Amino acid sequence: MSQQLFNDLVTLTSPAHAGRNAGSDEPNISAQFLYERFNQLGLQTQYQRFSFKSGFSSQAFGHNVVAKLPCNTERCGKAIVVSAHYDHLGTKGSKIYAGANDNASGTAALLAVAQQLKNAKRFYPVILLATDAEEKGLHGAKHYASQINKQEYALNINLDMLALNQKSTLYVMHSRTAKPYVDVLTRLQADDFKLKLASSPQRMRRLVGTERVDWLKASDHYAFHRAGLPYLYFGMGEDKNHHSVKDTIEQIDFEKYQHVVNFISDFMVALLDCPLDCTS
Ligand SMILES: [Zn+2]
Repeated sequence: MSQQLFNDLVTLTSPAHAGRNAGSDEPNISAQFLYERFNQLGLQTQYQRFSFKSGFSSQAFGHNVVAKLPCNTERCGKAIVVSAHYDHLGTKGSKIYAGANDNASGTAALLAVAQQLKNAKRFYPVILLATDAEEKGLHGAKHYASQINKQEYALNINLDMLALNQKSTLYVMHSRTAKPYVDVLTRLQADDFKLKLASSPQRMRRLVGTERVDWLKASDHYAFHRAGLPYLYFGMGEDKNHHSVKDTIEQIDFEKYQHVVNFISDFMVALLDCPLDCTS
């Protein structure tokens, strides 16, 4: 496994990050770490502070970390925003919720994608968005989506829970409007895992075999969907350790995870290299 990807996972799940709980007045250690990493990669990076309601009456603050890669070709398409929430559940007493799969896996993948796209040909501007306060109600993504001009955006790609389990299946749920981008995806080869596409949340529910989960509202893509953007959501389906203290780095099958991250990176490179009319 790539050393950098592994190191990022280790850092995000370390006790120092204390379960990456959202709601501090200043950017927490995880936000600062991401800011630094994007900066090191040479990306223009900013915090985006927002407030959200926590509990019945009190207000709390969250901090998205927003990194940009401009289009570097003559003709440019609309922006693609790749999102992954970095927050998790924090601590309870002496117990730390490391949130390795949920969603250190997506966050470390976001950094790997940034690294990969940095030197790629980019027909689209890319925004790498590490969102905060997803666990408390998708607040970071909702805030981001509330302040964009929809006309300037082509697509949201959301990464949440990428550490494949024994089923070795990566699910991609997408809006119907995202179909042209899915066509780019299906031209790629998935190594050592199965790729399953779901063209609706209902289809996703049937594929994963989960009655309870509303996959549309389950993660940040919902905020972009509500804002009218096409979306693609990448995830491993249902994790038996979801929101438990057992969601630790020890549970991650690194080889499978690496394959998934490589696949998503390859997809992003292919997507950005695609002449503007290739998706229409
Ligand atoms: Zn999550």
